[in-house]
Amino acid sequence: MARDCIFCRIIAGEAPADVVYRDDAVIAFKDIMPRAPVHILVVPLEHIASVNDLAEKHAQTVWRMFRVAQVVAEKQGIKSTGYRLVVNNGPDSGQVVFHLHMHLLGGAPLGPFGAYRRI
Ligand code: AMP
Ligand code: ZN
Repeated sequence: MARDCIFCRIIAGEAPADVVYRDDAVIAFKDIMPRAPVHILVVPLEHIASVNDLAEKHAQTVWRMFRVAQVVAEKQGIKSTGYRLVVNNGPDSGQVVFHLHMHLLGGAPLGPFGAYRRI
């Protein structure tokens, strides 16, 4: 647990969240600033700062995050209509919370992926 991490505080029950799923490895809660009709964050209980910090020992955790994405997508009724999974990593991605998380977005056509300047 990182005391200065908002997601660790949610996991510890010290900060509020609209939790839609929790097990012994992963929690899922609604994004506070939704960018789609369904916008849920899938978060490992373990504090891993970003994709850069993943190692082979996290293989099971990563699989469990994808498994929870499947389960939550089904519970939210978007399994067949489709959804997008996004993991931001580092400054250029706009990552603001440095506790690994997967955005689960769906519930309406999301449009083409991404927005970036031509280089
Ligand atoms: P990222 O840019 O990938 O780091 O995204 C972090 C996400 O966490 C953003 O979409 C925020 O809206 C969301 N967020 C930040 N604080 C909270 C919170 N307390 N509860 C739920 N979502 C949050
Ligand atoms: Zn954390």
